[in-house]
Amino acid sequence: MKKSDSSAGPFMHDFASPNPCTWCDGCGDYGIWTAAKRALVTLKIAPSQVLLCYDVGCHGNMSDKIGGYRMHGLHGRVIPLAAGAALANPAIPVIAFGGDGASFSEGVGHLVHGIRSNYRMTFVMHNNANYGLTTGQASALTWQNQPMNSSPNGIPEETLNSMDFVFSLKPTFVARGWSGDIAQMTRILTAAIRHRGFAYVDMLQACPSYNKFATHEWLMQHCYDVNADPSTSLRAGGHDPKDFAKARSLAVDTQNRVATGILYQTEDVPAFHERLKAREGAVTTPVEEVKIVDTTQWERVFL
Ligand code: SF4
Ligand code: MG
Repeated sequence: MKKSDSSAGPFMHDFASPNPCTWCDGCGDYGIWTAAKRALVTLKIAPSQVLLCYDVGCHGNMSDKIGGYRMHGLHGRVIPLAAGAALANPAIPVIAFGGDGASFSEGVGHLVHGIRSNYRMTFVMHNNANYGLTTGQASALTWQNQPMNSSPNGIPEETLNSMDFVFSLKPTFVARGWSGDIAQMTRILTAAIRHRGFAYVDMLQACPSYNKFATHEWLMQHCYDVNADPSTSLRAGGHDPKDFAKARSLAVDTQNRVATGILYQTEDVPAFHERLKAREGAVTTPVEEVKIVDTTQWERVFL
């Protein structure tokens, strides 16, 4: 066998962790975890060249099962955590992972300002339509009337239309993948990491333990790739990811089929740090400019 050229890396095994996975059998997190590593390998980003940030939830268990610089934050707070790091060092890619529960309840305000600020980061929303870590509580994205462990008669509220909400915030990148298609998720994440600003990625995720409605089989039957489907592909005169209105209608209309792929992208909007007057002309990053500050000068004030 030909010996591999180590200078051609990184490789998938560079992101390996000795910690065993604890997700349930058949969990969609396995696929998303694999696609995240594949995207980094595709982009030739080594574990030492990326920051991976995790919210609290089943997906968050990825934080010690992957190589790379990692931070595991408080529930619902992964976007400000990641955005702060991305502002401090815009030279490194920052990827944040969160769930549908935290993203659309505890942390929904952070999602709003992450998108409108267009921070240069990728946000991967593990969308299993429930709080899996707390054993199947309904989230804002659980389908109405679905019996869940904490709401056996179904939730009385209407399900939040997350994509309509996201598009109302004028995003610069919106994509949707599903956990059974690792190749497509890898393509989406590769493009998201390259994106100039805030890349929102809705990853529909099978949760065989608690989501009995949007199962792996349901997702397989309903999801279609807008770039491959004859009725919507650009080659067939179909979907153009620069077409905001079309992207929004494709994203929102999940009645019969679920559109996946890169639904919308514009590179015309500068990222947050590119619009800061105070940073105009800066050739260094804030993290390079940090100096040791002598705090004794303030002792008289506080003692
Ligand atoms: Fe995955 Fe659901 Fe199990 Fe959590 S509860 S590990 S999301 S299958
Ligand atoms: Mg969830």
